[in-house]
Amino acid sequence: MVQISEVTGNGRENRIAAHSHIKGLGLKEDGTSENAAGGFIGQNTAREASGVIVDLIKSKKLGGRGILFAGASGTGKTALALAIAQELGPKVPFCPMVGSEVFSSEVKKTEVLMENFRRAIGLRVKETKEVYEGEVTELTPEEAENPLGGYGKTISHVLLGLKTFKGTKQLKLDPSIYESLQKEMVTVGDVIYIEANTGAVKRVGRSDAYATEFDLEAEEYVPLPKGEVHKRKEIIQDVTLHDLDIANAHPQGGQDIMSMMGQLMKSRKTEITDKLRQEINKVVNKFIDQGIAELIPGVLFIDEVHMLDIECFTYLNQALESPISPIVIFASNRGMCTIRGTEDITAPHGIPTDLLDRLMIVRTLPYSAAEIKAIVQTRAKVESLNLTEAALDRLSEMGHKTSLRYAVQLLTPASIVAKLGASEAVDVQHVEECADLFLDTKRSARVAQSSGGFLH
Ligand code: ATP
Repeated sequence: MVQISEVTGNGRENRIAAHSHIKGLGLKEDGTSENAAGGFIGQNTAREASGVIVDLIKSKKLGGRGILFAGASGTGKTALALAIAQELGPKVPFCPMVGSEVFSSEVKKTEVLMENFRRAIGLRVKETKEVYEGEVTELTPEEAENPLGGYGKTISHVLLGLKTFKGTKQLKLDPSIYESLQKEMVTVGDVIYIEANTGAVKRVGRSDAYATEFDLEAEEYVPLPKGEVHKRKEIIQDVTLHDLDIANAHPQGGQDIMSMMGQLMKSRKTEITDKLRQEINKVVNKFIDQGIAELIPGVLFIDEVHMLDIECFTYLNQALESPISPIVIFASNRGMCTIRGTEDITAPHGIPTDLLDRLMIVRTLPYSAAEIKAIVQTRAKVESLNLTEAALDRLSEMGHKTSLRYAVQLLTPASIVAKLGASEAVDVQHVEECADLFLDTKRSARVAQSSGGFLH
């Protein structure tokens, strides 16, 4: 049986974590914005413009064009791009990157762009599979003496009881599946399914039948499955083209679609090459033609677009034309600047005019003190921080003077300082102590420019 190996994240999730309060654009039926909705506060015009963009994308009328959010740092450009992805539907990929990421000593610039394009293109695969599904009634690992000697015992097999409305079954499973069960943190009372062919385990949620009897705290409850324990079930999986590239570059196998892909591939490589990508595209197209899979174009967000150079822009111009291109959203906090890689051609945001012509440009405006206060308060709530009114006022004031980003970023260190001082709530002195410890960009620039800079 094949062990499932998960595709691990790469820090991009951390970047999205700062926006976990954003749930959509917060627009009404008629496309106008509510001042506070979907986790958003203010920035109404840009939100409404983003709503129009979502409509254009859904009606397939954006064709070959991109989007540019132009506005000062911390005015919600990333948050808006994420909200557009959310409005496009559940599980639509969102891939954030910064222009400077393309400069690496090992990888070509266009290769970095291509990789991120593929992170932003999803594939939804529907498959009917043979599974064992039910509420876990028993989960007992059976131990055996370690055949290699030594003091430790090993698990010889696992007894798993599964129950549905129609019946129950006891399965004797391989230790490798026990590991998967542990990884998914499966306990008695959970609804799970195990794929018969691969041994892949998926925890669906907590059984509501079990919950009413024993559980106290709220969780995601799911009904006791209908039908037999052993059955055929339609399974929907979302992966990105990049997930497929990785899974097929590393021969350990991967999630379902990946092992399917693996079977269809003639040979497996150890590196993502153009050839490998082409082979994957071929198989993906076949799945799409057969009606098994559907392409889900997501959002590629490129912040600090002025860091890209002319070679990248040429690549992007072509990539935007591709029929499977994701929605590309650029962000810039610059005005006129030199296009990198050219002698002295200046252009708005450092973007060549041929690309600029194809962008729908949306401006983001600085926030009022009251808006900053409301946003900081939302973040504090999401991070479960207890903030005094005075601390909130001080943070909002700092955010107004420097940037919203700075105020939001001070929240976590201030809470750590408060905890160290055994204080129940984050108060003004904790905020100020952190503001002394960490400079905002303006103060940092002032120190750098003063005689001797940071060295004296
Ligand atoms: P930069 O140009 O520096 O990358 P940005 O314009 O992308 O900044 P964000 O990172 O989106 O700004 O905003 C900073 C923080 O404030 C994030 O946590 C974001 O979710 C939050 N935020 C920004 N605007 C709003 C808003 N209108 N409502 C609620 N939260 C917001």
